[in-house]
Amino acid sequence: MSTQFIQANADYVANFGDKGSLALPPAKKLIVVTCMDARLDPAAHLGIKEGDAHVIRNAGGSAKDALRSIIISQRLLGTREIAVFHHTGCGMLTFSSNDLRSIVKEANPGNATVASQVDSIDFLEFGHLEDSVKADVGFLHESPLVLKETHVTGWVYEVETGKIRQIV
Ligand SMILES: [Zn+2]
Repeated sequence: MSTQFIQANADYVANFGDKGSLALPPAKKLIVVTCMDARLDPAAHLGIKEGDAHVIRNAGGSAKDALRSIIISQRLLGTREIAVFHHTGCGMLTFSSNDLRSIVKEANPGNATVASQVDSIDFLEFGHLEDSVKADVGFLHESPLVLKETHVTGWVYEVETGKIRQIV
């Protein structure tokens, strides 16, 4: 796969245009938090262009996991709106943190360092899609590290149709 990078990048550079003059702070003052799922192309399905927004991706589109980047984005780069996207068919609906900890520990039998490190990670899985969106929006509203004036919305993206719907 990585052998394709050079050719793909040459094509991209040929059409790069004037994007080299874009400003560092996102023009739309927007953060999108969404899942790392390979089927999601947020720039395409939300119409986000280079320079518009910070798109923070992680397993599940977890707001909690994104907090470090959100603080940097808001305090240093001026963003004031956050849109949280979770999606149908998400892998985060399919396991528990204890399941995953067991997989890692069983692959490293007797390794106390691995056990203690993996036991300290909350993998932030969820059991219900819409509720998880509401919980993440609530987390952002309540976090003292997120600016009070932030406009926060919560959404579901449907991998079956490409459609989005607003939950909060
Ligand atoms: Zn996902």
